[in-house]
Amino acid sequence: MTIKRNILLNPGPATTTDTVKLAQVVPDICPREKEFASLMKGLREDLVRIVHGNLEKYTSVLFCGSGTINIDVCLNSLLPEGKKVLVINNGAYSTRAVEICQAYGLPHIDLKFPVDQLPDLQLVEKTLQENPDIALVHTTHNETGTGILNPIREIGALCHKYNAVFSVDTTSTYAMRPIDVEKDNIDFCMASAQKGIMAMAGLSFIIGNRKIIEESANYPRRSYYCNLFLQYDYFEKTGEMHFTPPVQTIYATLQALKEYWAEGEEAKWARHTRVFNAIHAGLDELGFKDVIKREWQSGLVVSVLYPNDPAWDFEKVHDYCYEHGFTIYPGKISTTNTFRLCALGAIDEDDIKAFFKVFRQALIENDIKIPARY
Ligand SMILES: *Cc1c(COP(=O)(O)O)cnc(C)c1O
Repeated sequence: MTIKRNILLNPGPATTTDTVKLAQVVPDICPREKEFASLMKGLREDLVRIVHGNLEKYTSVLFCGSGTINIDVCLNSLLPEGKKVLVINNGAYSTRAVEICQAYGLPHIDLKFPVDQLPDLQLVEKTLQENPDIALVHTTHNETGTGILNPIREIGALCHKYNAVFSVDTTSTYAMRPIDVEKDNIDFCMASAQKGIMAMAGLSFIIGNRKIIEESANYPRRSYYCNLFLQYDYFEKTGEMHFTPPVQTIYATLQALKEYWAEGEEAKWARHTRVFNAIHAGLDELGFKDVIKREWQSGLVVSVLYPNDPAWDFEKVHDYCYEHGFTIYPGKISTTNTFRLCALGAIDEDDIKAFFKVFRQALIENDIKIPARY
């Protein structure tokens, strides 16, 4: 079977290998069979190993849903009665966390910073100092909307200094940029199968500190389906997900994990870096400008400013690229017009070189000036 290979430069789902795609074609199985449960055990442990967690101290809890379910679960499940959440917010994904706090009516502080700036750690510390009722701090590692990389290790250290639990949205770094939960001071991190591990959408997972999950057993139960302790407890007792798992996605994820270990953490990060550098080289050659200071970029997402050219039309450029097998993606900054090129997925620098031939042609076909005008 040959499957057309599309190069996805959007921020996930990512380009997958054919072996991962085909791993979903398996005999039908009821996920309540022991055979299936035994697959889940290895999977859960592997997810902890990717971030170098000690399996006694850290565990992983799986959910059926897209990555946002993880943010929802962590925020609604890990806040004790009478306490507050602090969201350190410099982008669209932390804003999503604030919206989740609003939806559940969780007392929270939305500590906002400009989307193209790093959070001011002194202000973070002052906020923690002045609000001893903050029990849970949440932020985003790589703000995928812009590609800015937040200093999670330093933020985590502050959280622990003020006895708060630290939850980080690592959806767009996990299994790409190396993470070490202990050294990075992470209590909870999260991702979904279709991003760094290059499997399919539908499976999301939280890696977290077992003791804190166990302590949360008697926190207010604000959701039934999306409660962290309930799902954890069911896993510990039965080895299974509480409700129907995304069966075929799990087979794809198991194959993707085999490929992850075969490639290796360092080699994989080096490959993403090659792709990222090739994206920058291609953009530089065409005169495009990016939004975030280079040294603050996560190495995974480039957020590009629309040129100041009356002929510029993102939709037309997108459609031309799409017809030629390459997907580019709009930006996520409300105040600036941008598009994004991302270094996720089973791609390498040759794919980016091939992309820029098509992209250049898309500019020429649409009479957009090269170099890009600003
Ligand atoms: C992709 C992503 C998510 C999850 O988004 P979904 O649309 O629910 O898959 C969450 N956080 C970050 C930082 C992401 O990049």
